[in-house]
Amino acid sequence: MKLMIMGPPGAGKGTQAERLVKELDITHISTGDMFRAAIKEGTEMGKKAKEYMDQGQLVPDEVVVGMVKDRLSQPDCEKGFLLDGFPRTAAQADALSNTLENMGIKLDGVINIEVPRERLMARLTGRRVCKACGASYHVIFNSPRQEGVCDSCGGELYQRSDDNEETVSNRLDVYEAQTQPLIDYYSERGVLLSINGDQDIDLVLKDVLAALKK
Ligand SMILES: [Zn+2]
Repeated sequence: MKLMIMGPPGAGKGTQAERLVKELDITHISTGDMFRAAIKEGTEMGKKAKEYMDQGQLVPDEVVVGMVKDRLSQPDCEKGFLLDGFPRTAAQADALSNTLENMGIKLDGVINIEVPRERLMARLTGRRVCKACGASYHVIFNSPRQEGVCDSCGGELYQRSDDNEETVSNRLDVYEAQTQPLIDYYSERGVLLSINGDQDIDLVLKDVLAALKK
């Protein structure tokens, strides 16, 4: 299976990606990891990317797509792969499509994990951190025994500024604006698989596998 996965911050994309590659025995290609590896190994594309990054510039699409191409040409991708974290824009999607076509690769599906915005807000603003020892809690998923108080040291719990409503809301706005064209792009090509991410993680995986069988 040759797949791609997308999902907003807080949708549990990382967890699903990890489980899916295990379940299907395919190679997980996280663009972040791929970048670091290409730069570390000093591949031609890695060197190019590093030049831009050293100058504080964005790495151009052609270089990123070049790295993806190099990565997909490696033997461990023959059994299938899951692209994660790329493309991020419709222009990148177009460039990637051309590259895949030249390589004779056709995507079997683009998994889009969907979670209603208010649920994402609750997930993403729920983190609380101890002022004294730095221990991390979550008001929904990992709540302290006593509200606002650290279990391990009794310190006061607070919400970090990057977890507040406004910041999180902005992050989600940016994600949505960036991603909608991608969703349209893959939807028009009939490969988009919309998955309900607002349920138990086992059920999300089950839905993904069912959608892939169709
Ligand atoms: Zn503490």
